[in-house]
Amino acid sequence: MNVAVIGTGYVGATTSAALASMGHQVIGVDVDRQKVESLNCGRLPFYEEGLEQLMQNLLATGALTFTADLPRAVRESDILFLTVGTPSNADGSADLRYVEGAVRDIGRSIKTHKVIVSKSTVPVGTGDLVKTWLQEELAKRGTDIPFDIVSNPEFLREGKALHDALHPERIVIGCESDKARAVMTSLYEGLRTVLFYTTVRDAEMIKYASNAFLATKISFINELARLCEKTGASISKVARGMGLDSRIGGQFLRAGIGYGGSCFPKDVEALLHLSRQEGVPLQLLDAVARVNQEQAAWFLQKVLRHLGPLSGKKIALLGLTFKPGTDDIREAPALRLIPELLAAGAELSAYDPQGMEAVRRLHPGLRYAKDPYDALAGADGALLLTEWQEFLELDYAQVKRVMAGAVLLDGRNALDGEKMRGYGLLYDGVGERGTG
Ligand code: NAD
Repeated sequence: MNVAVIGTGYVGATTSAALASMGHQVIGVDVDRQKVESLNCGRLPFYEEGLEQLMQNLLATGALTFTADLPRAVRESDILFLTVGTPSNADGSADLRYVEGAVRDIGRSIKTHKVIVSKSTVPVGTGDLVKTWLQEELAKRGTDIPFDIVSNPEFLREGKALHDALHPERIVIGCESDKARAVMTSLYEGLRTVLFYTTVRDAEMIKYASNAFLATKISFINELARLCEKTGASISKVARGMGLDSRIGGQFLRAGIGYGGSCFPKDVEALLHLSRQEGVPLQLLDAVARVNQEQAAWFLQKVLRHLGPLSGKKIALLGLTFKPGTDDIREAPALRLIPELLAAGAELSAYDPQGMEAVRRLHPGLRYAKDPYDALAGADGALLLTEWQEFLELDYAQVKRVMAGAVLLDGRNALDGEKMRGYGLLYDGVGERGTG
């Protein structure tokens, strides 16, 4: 099938490559000409394992191309995916300006029937807005071209984006015509997964509900971790014991410094905004967001307890991105901690395998190390802020040797506390027994 993917960021670039590798003819479209140029040269403007190589192969076969020429992409495609960003407005609501911009561009260009599929995360009711924007543009042109609207929310995880796009656990398809349903069914024919058909509104809500639920698990375990720490229980053991119950499940129950990234914080806020707008307060979700906001400050108190006043103290930061496997630093918990540590007078030395370039733009004054040991050299304390595999495999005897002090605070509960103490490190995690 001929597909255009409008917006070639994390989701759009991944979707383009995944669909092309499934045998479709794909054109990725972006308003950012530099990005288009880089993609056409086979250079991914962000880090995602395996994606650049696949993209290069697909560019070579001609199954995938990129352009800034939206009218051409619309002309040559039957299915148009919307994968533009939906960031937060100041009041927490979803900013739909990129969606509207892309939809109106489509409305100015279409000449034949199209299936317009939103993969962008958008609040319930946006499908109707998309219809209205298109009809307005068509009315301006004095034409009446038929189209179908589909909501097909994306659930991929950065760091595992390609795997998730090619092996999704489910594909949610919100559509309201047999024609659109048939088109979406054959589009995804090559994937062995569950296709869950529903209405556009249901599909839009499923995405927010899923992210809100995962964020709830994280805040639940983080808040409980604080109580575990006071009462001498270990949150890691508690979470494992809970997770063995299949009704609960073990995922998203690792205590740490809070959730971040380009999705959870903004999607939770957008759902809360919608709930206020509709007069149906979501009290539980409100607390989820609050707990998450507090978690970095709670961890900072731990840093102060272990290191005392931070003025002039050297602190090594291991990890900056919001999670491993990505260079994305949007809403990364490390970014909540850095200003606080700097304000307290700490001297920071940071290392991250992928995130340093982006953080350097925000905090040019930090010392950016060439490797983890370089970051740790002479440090009074070390904070593990992103659980990159590289950090889990360090030689911790050497870590102890290169540091001036011995405090190692694990903001991701990713290291083995007993082992770390065996190296002579003053290890503490989040919500672990007797280390507070
Ligand atoms: P992104 O910011 O990385 O990319 C968006 C792209 O859209 C940019 O390249 C931008 O230049 C382009 N764009 C903006 N307006 C355009 C227009 N009119 N025409 C063509 N291109 C345009 O965003 P992202 O992280 O890929 O997220 C996209 C959507 O997917 C969001 O709604 C997000 O919530 C959702 N989502 C993201 C993830 C994730 O892990 N990043 C996962 C699931 C869902």
